[in-house]
Amino acid sequence: MQKQPIVCKFGGTSMADANAIKRVAEIIRADSRRRYVVVSAAGKRYKTDEKITDLLYRTYDEIAQTGSVGECFKKVANRYRQIVADLGIQLDIEQILADTVREMETRQSPDFCASRGEYLAAIIVAKYLEFPFLDAADIIKFDPSGRYDSEYSNDISATKLNELTYAVIPGFYGSKADGSIVTFSRGGSDITGSIISRAAKASVYENWTDVDGFMTADPRIVENPKKIEMLTYAELRELSYMGASVLHAEAIFPLRNHKIPVNIKNTFHPDALGTMIYAYSDGHTPASVVTGIAGKKDFSVVFIEKTNMNAEIGFARKVLSVLEYYGISFEHMPSGIDTLSLVVESAQLRGKKQRVLDDIKHAINADRIMLTDNLALVSVVGHGMCENIGTATRLCAAISDAGINLRMLDQGSSELSIFVAVDNKDYEATIQALYNEFIR
Ligand code: ASP
Repeated sequence: MQKQPIVCKFGGTSMADANAIKRVAEIIRADSRRRYVVVSAAGKRYKTDEKITDLLYRTYDEIAQTGSVGECFKKVANRYRQIVADLGIQLDIEQILADTVREMETRQSPDFCASRGEYLAAIIVAKYLEFPFLDAADIIKFDPSGRYDSEYSNDISATKLNELTYAVIPGFYGSKADGSIVTFSRGGSDITGSIISRAAKASVYENWTDVDGFMTADPRIVENPKKIEMLTYAELRELSYMGASVLHAEAIFPLRNHKIPVNIKNTFHPDALGTMIYAYSDGHTPASVVTGIAGKKDFSVVFIEKTNMNAEIGFARKVLSVLEYYGISFEHMPSGIDTLSLVVESAQLRGKKQRVLDDIKHAINADRIMLTDNLALVSVVGHGMCENIGTATRLCAAISDAGINLRMLDQGSSELSIFVAVDNKDYEATIQALYNEFIR
């Protein structure tokens, strides 16, 4: 009987050139349980290089304007030609590229064009590994409105994988019943890896990237931050949602009911243990109060004041229905007796700021309504916070000792995270101060 498989997903840098793909093959061959491989499109080889997916979105623009592919697709084709030549595999890449061009020009769809990066990478890797190629369009399904259909996809993926001992599967996309291609959001090959892990009942989902794991804080802000050895799904959600970008924020959904652990690994440093991500209920207890710190800039806060607000039934609903009307989602909604604040990404208010404020004021007859822009949110995340007294006190002290004006503070109801809002200009200093207090 076959051992439970390991599903491996390799990101763009692991696909960037033939040398990287050779490393990928070594990793796969080092453990016979690594039987299902999900790949991204070729990424950057060096800092100023272009990502294939970006070039393919521009290819779509070229087709939309002129009816046929242009310079951008030439670069895509040359990258993959070079990889095929350097790997020395027997693959009729000219025919595959010609078919791809024809289909892109006929279908005229941005999702179809973008998906071809993963498609071509997977064909090449499959050939090099001598594994079957399994097209994601056949197993990852979207409904007619473009929403991912998880149960249907799981059923057909599981059936298909049962028939295949090995497979290389392109990440990032699937298809609707009419055959049209739909992509996940950017970075979505991580989601494909999760879907395949669930369908294959994997013992672990290895997500191979170009860093040693999740860091406790953004290395562009904090010099040499400590690595996170162990993380829970819930902490991961909070951290990736708040900008820690190692794994797509939605990648956890297919896994969490099945408790499949994720191991973030580095293709270019394969012996490093990486970060293990488990379900909390597996009995893993947190090693420290705060597991990680993450944040994002450019939020706005709508501050609403109305006397006796807490006694008024339906108040919040009226405020939120204005947001719903304008198609705006909010991030947080801290409230007091007579006040309510809505934290919203500033980009969501673009072009409708005044109308939103006027409509809220009118809907609830507010005493005062105010908007503050240019705010950054920073979250400290960790299960350890529920068992420890004084985390918020330490957090506030660290921020005030650093001379930073704390604009807002809110503790998530799960006691898993506390977020603060500070001015955009204080973002980096806040992360550094919190790192010094909780992690260093
Ligand atoms: N190639 C896609 C992107 O660049 C998806 C992925 O790599 O996960 O967003």
